[in-house]
Amino acid sequence: MTTTVAVIGLGIMGGPMAANLIKAGHRVVGYNRSPEPVRRLQDAGGHGAGSVAEAVRVADVVITMLPDSPDVEAVALGQDGTGADGIYANARPGTLHIDASTIRPDVARRLAEAGRERGVRVLDAPVSGGEPGAVEGTLSIMVGGDAADVEAARPVLEAVGRTIVHVGPHGSGQTVKAANQLIVAGNIALVAEAVVFLEAHGVNTAAAVEVLAGGLAGSTVLDRKGHTMLARDFTPGFRVELHDKDLGILTAAAREAGVVIPLGALVAQLMASLKARGDGGLDHSALLTLVEQLSGRSAGPPS
Ligand code: NAD
Repeated sequence: MTTTVAVIGLGIMGGPMAANLIKAGHRVVGYNRSPEPVRRLQDAGGHGAGSVAEAVRVADVVITMLPDSPDVEAVALGQDGTGADGIYANARPGTLHIDASTIRPDVARRLAEAGRERGVRVLDAPVSGGEPGAVEGTLSIMVGGDAADVEAARPVLEAVGRTIVHVGPHGSGQTVKAANQLIVAGNIALVAEAVVFLEAHGVNTAAAVEVLAGGLAGSTVLDRKGHTMLARDFTPGFRVELHDKDLGILTAAAREAGVVIPLGALVAQLMASLKARGDGGLDHSALLTLVEQLSGRSAGPPS
């Protein structure tokens, strides 16, 4: 039986995820606030919808891939004051809502409760792997919610991801994602410091990155971003403003639990500074430019 999947939010991540769902044989109906991504989905064999309501009415599964907590709340609960235009007012009972966006764990729990009241089964299923992972269909997906719903969602999740793990009840997917964002931001900051250090010593940085990647210093960040950082190519990818949002989620959740994360707090401040100076639209690896400036070296790589 063909599954109809509504995808709301067809940006850097949602667009390629929808394309992979089509490739896997699902019927995909997409909606995005701006029209261009909907046209791209139609070119890829999907169907366009003119509103959230129109997209979800026909769906067995709804995936949201939106920037932040207020966006997901508005789309799920409606924004016309009555809720009538939201996912939960228009989805058929039993529909699965998989929120793949990165949002606050407490908001994920609230949405699960609101969905339950309308007969909609909600999962928080944030992803890691970036744009390449979305394009290749190899995302790592951390899922919070009821075990039976996770199993029901698995055939759809398998079309977009490779590592799919049920990590606990509603909200836990988002908590694991916050930890993911701590590790990634810290890793980028340390790679940035290493690059500035190596360049200051006139070392062949391409050779250095190659050998570092093969040892204990190796990481997915180094593999995927090392060379673009050396070339100062900060085309997103994952935008600074989104990582700043995620580090806000992390620091609030750490405080709530009474957990002290000194390195996380420091890198959160650096990311916030990058955004504050107007670089929110760059890839998060642009943290390199800030680290360079701390040493008075802002001219980029040696020519
Ligand atoms: P994006 O800005 O490229 O895409 C978001 C899309 O949602 C845009 O096309 C926007 O027009 C649309 N949108 C916003 N509000 C809407 C609304 N009310 N109704 C319909 N469409 C709406 O962002 P992205 O990089 O795809 O990230 C999406 C989510 O995935 C974020 O929560 C982000 O933190 C997370 N994420 C991103 C990456 C990455 O590498 N880009 C990796 C993992 C997780």
